[in-house]
Amino acid sequence: MSKLQPVRGTRDIYGQLAYRHHHIIDTSFEVCRRYGYDRISTPIFEFTNVFLRSIGETTDIVSKEMYSFEDRKGESLTLRPEGTAGVVRSLISNGRFQELPLKQFYAGPMFRYERPQKGRYRQFHQIGAEYLGAEEPRSDVEAISMAFNVLQALGLDKSISLEINTLGDEDSRSAYRDALVAYFAKYKNDLSADSQMRLEKNPLRILDSKNETDKEISSQAPAFEAFLNASSKTYFENVCKGLENLGLSYVLNDKLVRGLDYYSHSVFEFVTNELGAQGTVLAGGRYDGLVQQMGGKPTPAIGWAAGIERLEMLMPDLAEDLPVTMMMPIGETTFSEAEKLMHDLRSAGHKVISDYAGNLKKRFARADKVGAKLAIILGEEELSKNVVMLKNMKTGEQDEVEINQLEKKIRENHES
Ligand code: ATP
Ligand code: MG
Repeated sequence: MSKLQPVRGTRDIYGQLAYRHHHIIDTSFEVCRRYGYDRISTPIFEFTNVFLRSIGETTDIVSKEMYSFEDRKGESLTLRPEGTAGVVRSLISNGRFQELPLKQFYAGPMFRYERPQKGRYRQFHQIGAEYLGAEEPRSDVEAISMAFNVLQALGLDKSISLEINTLGDEDSRSAYRDALVAYFAKYKNDLSADSQMRLEKNPLRILDSKNETDKEISSQAPAFEAFLNASSKTYFENVCKGLENLGLSYVLNDKLVRGLDYYSHSVFEFVTNELGAQGTVLAGGRYDGLVQQMGGKPTPAIGWAAGIERLEMLMPDLAEDLPVTMMMPIGETTFSEAEKLMHDLRSAGHKVISDYAGNLKKRFARADKVGAKLAIILGEEELSKNVVMLKNMKTGEQDEVEINQLEKKIRENHES
């Protein structure tokens, strides 16, 4: 029988990768909590409509990347390709409008049918934050500053830079759309097939194309700035001022449009040049029209998401941070006391692992190898006196400790 393989573009998360994966989720939520965020988990599959109605039919995601299937009743379902649509659907279906503003943090797997490569998978994972009911430029500034603080808490602030742009309001976008259609129409036959289709339906999307010829044509396209109306301009200026006020540096990138249709005003990306073509680590923007578009009350909102795999690749190895105590019982008559002691120490919050086999020299070598801080040696003689030997693996110091004092001694040792 041939060996079972994982599905292309998916992978198992264990060992060092698992450490980093969970460290990223825990650390980033810890930061977001300081901004008043709560956790939310939405299902990993939704009715296909949830994504069709939100992400936009001319986007890469909807046009070619979705894992859609019919269930046994013929209902069209889709594995979520991103997190925002589900969070907004949840706001609407749970009628949580009285609770606005709502700040929601999520983490979990996303699914896109893409060509797998470094930093690009078919099942990947995101952390993300959605601020629903987010009014005023100060909310944009807060969302961006929170993203920065997350990256800083992960030790990545030196490897990334912030790029921002504005997509203006509806009026500005529609003026810009006309200008883009006029411009791209001149190059229609040179554009990729995808972009030719976008020309009619959503020319802004062409600016986000990864096709080389499309990119070249886009580089000469009219800039958005000339089409921004006064209020959109003021809005964006205030976002920029707010970032400066916090001392966050940014680069203006007028080609930044993002891969989803629901954005308006601020869009931003934290990018790195350490990951080749997969340089976007964290990305987001304002999506004022989305909640209403999906059938809810008009609700301004802003959010961002980051790819856990890309964050992982930028991070150094992590080590276990709970101090380890190694239990070494000598002789079968001591085993049940050892088990009882370990049970009690673990309930008191200590990490204790055990090594029952071989001579002490070999056991100490193994304890060193796993980085144990302390070793408990429990022989028959000790047991008869109700004591153990507690050895500090770093200094080599060894003390006789009464069993009823053991937990206290271990705690003191870890605290010192
Ligand atoms: P890209 O331009 O790299 O395709 P995107 O614009 O499609 O990214 P978003 O939809 O904004 O990405 O998702 C936010 C983040 O999720 C990205 O910045 C990236 O870090 C991560 N991400 C997106 N798609 C994948 C994938 N297939 N594999 C791994 N991470 C991904
Ligand atoms: Mg993509």
